[in-house]
Amino acid sequence: MSKRIAIFGSTGSVGRQALEVIEANSDKFTAEILTAHTNEALLIKQALQFNPNIVVIGDEKKYPIVKEALAKTNVKVFAGEKALDEVAAMDCYDLMLAAIVGYAGLKPTLRALDNGKHIALANKETLVVAGDIVMQKALEKKVPVIPVDSEHSAIFQCLIGEGRNKIEKIVLTASGGPFLGKKPNYLVNVKRDHALQHPNWSMGAKISIDSATLMNKGLEMIEAKWLFNLKPDQIQVVVHPQSIIHSLVQFEDGSLKAQMGLPDMKLPIQYALAFPQRIPNQFPRYDFRKPATLTFEEPDTKTFRNLLLATEALRQGGNMPCILNAANEIAVFAFLRNRIGFLDITEVVEQTMNKISHIAQPTLEQYFESDGEARNFAASLIQL
Ligand code: NAD
Ligand code: MG
Repeated sequence: MSKRIAIFGSTGSVGRQALEVIEANSDKFTAEILTAHTNEALLIKQALQFNPNIVVIGDEKKYPIVKEALAKTNVKVFAGEKALDEVAAMDCYDLMLAAIVGYAGLKPTLRALDNGKHIALANKETLVVAGDIVMQKALEKKVPVIPVDSEHSAIFQCLIGEGRNKIEKIVLTASGGPFLGKKPNYLVNVKRDHALQHPNWSMGAKISIDSATLMNKGLEMIEAKWLFNLKPDQIQVVVHPQSIIHSLVQFEDGSLKAQMGLPDMKLPIQYALAFPQRIPNQFPRYDFRKPATLTFEEPDTKTFRNLLLATEALRQGGNMPCILNAANEIAVFAFLRNRIGFLDITEVVEQTMNKISHIAQPTLEQYFESDGEARNFAASLIQL
């Protein structure tokens, strides 16, 4: 029987690549639910090709267009933020690929977990905002949360077969992004189009900017803490510009395990969908016979201070990562609209972290409130 997949965020970079994986393995997977925020044209195209049970368009104004275009099919069409939640609670699928970007991915993922659904998690912000609650729910419901983020997929793969063997530390590799080696006097002038050019990966706009500011690696430290139950000082970041080693685990005997391969998100996506199986594919292979140098260096946290802010949020815990994330989402959005400069992103995040009160053990409601307060404060700094 094929695994029925619900792709939340099917029109995004991860969502589109997941559909390629499903298309290439139509004997193993079916696309049961597809959701998009505003791109109705692509959602319609995907629905006509994959014939899912349900589609959701976030933007309610676009409901009539989608409904009309799919009138001759059996595809059920829903619209609006609430519909995302309702559809996540349905029984018609086996695994949710959480590929919405940002805080918006949290509620549907929680709903899927409530309903005992397996999760393939691309949306790292879900764990940054409320990782304790998400992982606690997964534990209660005894359902796996399988990482899609390439670094976390690497660590997950390194841990297979290790049973109760303890992790001494993990090493998250960072490409360094498009501005590796640059200093503040250069960064002060960079614009969105330049920041969107990632050397190794082609990704959505928000994560591309996060990669350029190194906030992405900061969010990934927090994501790793929750996925692998780690203490802050067990998480190290190293810059590895070639993106061949996707991350490493060091065990208590000092032995290091790494997962390697060419940078291609389809691999961790396929791994998460098919887990615990590995399935063959035709993706290009890394060839050790070709001369290549793999290099490693310390991240420049004097220049890319977001990594320090994220480490601080990780150490403080409670609602601080949620505050960091909310401020960052507002600041990145503003940068993408040319409202603030590249270095201002860090300023907005830092000032918001200083402003909003720390709560050590927030409830879910308090996470929602902290997110709202942090967004309002960050926006007031920017005058959008
Ligand atoms: P993207 O911007 O390309 O796509 C985002 C998807 O989410 C789209 O389908 C969009 O319609 C939907 N969406 C956006 N805002 C929404 C909202 N408010 N409500 C409902 N749906 C909404 O993003 P992406 O690059 O595919 O990244 C998705 C997630 O995966 C992010 O959390 C990112 O950090 C993570 N991730 C991405 C990559 C990558 O290579 N792209 C790698 C690792 C992790
Ligand atoms: Mg990553």
